[in-house]
Amino acid sequence: MRRPLIAGNWKMNLDRAGSVALAAGVAARAAEFPKADLVVCPPDVYLAAVAEKVAGSKVGLGAQNMYFEGSGAFTGETSAAMLLDVGCKYVILGHSERRALLGETDAIVLKKTQAALSAGLVPIVCVGETLAEREAGRTHAVIEEQFKGSLASLSEADIAKVVVAYEPVWAIGTGKVATPEQAEEVHLDLRGMLSSRYNAAVSETIRLLYGGSVKASNAAELLKQPNIDGALVGGASLKADEFLGIAAAA
Ligand code: PEP
Repeated sequence: MRRPLIAGNWKMNLDRAGSVALAAGVAARAAEFPKADLVVCPPDVYLAAVAEKVAGSKVGLGAQNMYFEGSGAFTGETSAAMLLDVGCKYVILGHSERRALLGETDAIVLKKTQAALSAGLVPIVCVGETLAEREAGRTHAVIEEQFKGSLASLSEADIAKVVVAYEPVWAIGTGKVATPEQAEEVHLDLRGMLSSRYNAAVSETIRLLYGGSVKASNAAELLKQPNIDGALVGGASLKADEFLGIAAAA
């Protein structure tokens, strides 16, 4: 059985006080949801403050990005070791905002994923098609290209440690959630890709999250799909009650 994972991507929101308060709100009630793993991903500058608040609770800490090099002259970047040092267990990689706004390619996402795994972080690797790609009937082709470029070069031992998030770009921050059937179709397709490239056992082990306008009121129908193992949550993760409402649905 795959354990549900609900991860909150706070993006570039909140200040220090707001981050600490949100983390405290999530941590205070996290034990009410023993069946799900909960993760919060604040901006890097607040990771240490949030780590203090979630310490001793079941809430895991994640970052929203990292660089693939270990150290050196990479101004503005953060390494996997630094994330571990402040208490991270997870890191989101290849988010569509980074792919679209910051030129992150599949090759870069793969290098980051490999670096995260070597350091012992759990990468949450994002894939997803744009609206134009979906309307052109290219959803499968786009997801397959991202899968091949960002994930398929990993060893069997490594891929088994990865979490994959299917995040249709048209559903992110738009309030336009994919229907459970649309999401399940792509998750099933991803399972097939994992099974063909690796094997059925690996494919059945890996947690596949859905992301895109998930909130407490629509989470249950998404999460009851057989191949949806959790959610990557943006906007709705900025309010403890809403985020925990999604955890309750899991
Ligand atoms: C995200 O950016 O990962 C996301 C899913 O955002 P939202 O929930 O706001 O659509």
